[in-house]
Amino acid sequence: MSEQRTQTQSFLDEVFDQLDVSDDVRTRLAQPKLALTVNIPVRMDDGTLQVFKGFRVQFDDTRGPTKGGVRFHPRVTLEEVTALSFWMTVKCAVAGLPFGGAKGGVAVDPKRLSRLELERLSRGYIRGIADIIGPKRDIPAPDVYTNATIMGWMTDEYYQIRRQQTPGVITGKPVHLGGSLGRTSATGRGALHLLQQWAQRQGLQPKRTRIAVQGFGNAGYHFARLAHEAGFRIVALSDSRGGIYAEDGLDPALIMRHKLNRRELKAMLYCDASVCEEADHKEISNAELLELDVEVLALAALEDQITADNAERIHADQVLEIANGPVDAAGDRILAQRDIPVLPDVLVNAGGVVVSHFEWVQNRAGEYWDEARVNDRLKSVMEGEAKRVFALADEQNCTLRSAAYRHGVARIAGAIHDQGTREYFQGAIEGTNVE
Ligand code: NAD
Repeated sequence: MSEQRTQTQSFLDEVFDQLDVSDDVRTRLAQPKLALTVNIPVRMDDGTLQVFKGFRVQFDDTRGPTKGGVRFHPRVTLEEVTALSFWMTVKCAVAGLPFGGAKGGVAVDPKRLSRLELERLSRGYIRGIADIIGPKRDIPAPDVYTNATIMGWMTDEYYQIRRQQTPGVITGKPVHLGGSLGRTSATGRGALHLLQQWAQRQGLQPKRTRIAVQGFGNAGYHFARLAHEAGFRIVALSDSRGGIYAEDGLDPALIMRHKLNRRELKAMLYCDASVCEEADHKEISNAELLELDVEVLALAALEDQITADNAERIHADQVLEIANGPVDAAGDRILAQRDIPVLPDVLVNAGGVVVSHFEWVQNRAGEYWDEARVNDRLKSVMEGEAKRVFALADEQNCTLRSAAYRHGVARIAGAIHDQGTREYFQGAIEGTNVE
């Protein structure tokens, strides 16, 4: 991932050149504002003590308190969290939210912990970072392998430390603990709005648009379910253990019900008679799913799925980045040369943080919205920003990723400029009477 940070930086340099921003902006965005590493002691169920490494990185807060999820994964490192915190900074700006960007993580395989160990770890993480978070400072949320329950524990720990209820400190909470309706499906729903805007522009008919979805977790599942409901044809789905393919289309909600029963897509296919009766499913590998001949390849698992190694073999007409960083810089260049548009992560998956913003607003106002209001407002934000990015890509004849970055970085640069840059202060000094 440090590799990815370097790649992002070189991409960013191009964006800076195109935007002609002040050197101050480059300097400010070259490194994070604050990076904290904590060692979290956790008493395990067998009585032993284990120490886990946790991180919280606040990249830039010029546009508002920083915002970003917390990831529990064995491969979490400070470098990865830093790269993700930078993407959050850009994403919040692309979506026009009054937030800067942050990210957090703990190096742990959460599937190996009992529920009580997981609760102790989640609370320990908050004790470690409590001094640098808060509703007006930095607001965590769920990410890979963290969920609403974990956010509930974390929020409660923060209340105990502060001795006051400040639900705006964390978003993605359970609805009964101050979470927002519509938050769970927001990332997938936002990605669908993006795809619909794009389809309209390209003249794609949902019925004739075949979609392969890699990753069947929170983001991938809700996207697949809602796209199916909107009339798109989901022909392939996969999770970490493998995938399935059906030319006539799959019903993601039905597959999820069976997956929850079986806990694994592959096992379900062969063991569950009712699904096998519904459609003619073929088992495929994750590599095969990526190379399918489909109209849309939706990537909703992890980073670095399309790289120089497989970009030449991608047959999709367009790629939808629902995960963060699923196409690396080399893969991106190859897809651009091959005229395969990539709808970029900083725009496509912004729905999650948009509804997190709604949750924060509701928490601070103490007034809660119905789900229709949340979904309507999400649609309006996603459609508005999509139109702006598509128009910019046309105007400046650049890739959609480049347009999204120009759009987001222009807003961040505007905020940095408005605080005063070298040019401003030199001018001001010349104009004063100070001797
Ligand atoms: P999740 O943990 O709920 O799901 C991840 C899914 O990917 C699981 O189904 C897992 O089995 C699958 N997977 C893992 N490795 C795979 C592989 N090699 N091939 C195929 N499938 C694989 O996580 P999530 O919250 O859905 O997040 C997925 C991605 O979306 C991440 O990059 C995350 O940062 C990004 N994202 C999520 C949200 C959100 O609100 N959940 C918001 C913005 C971005």
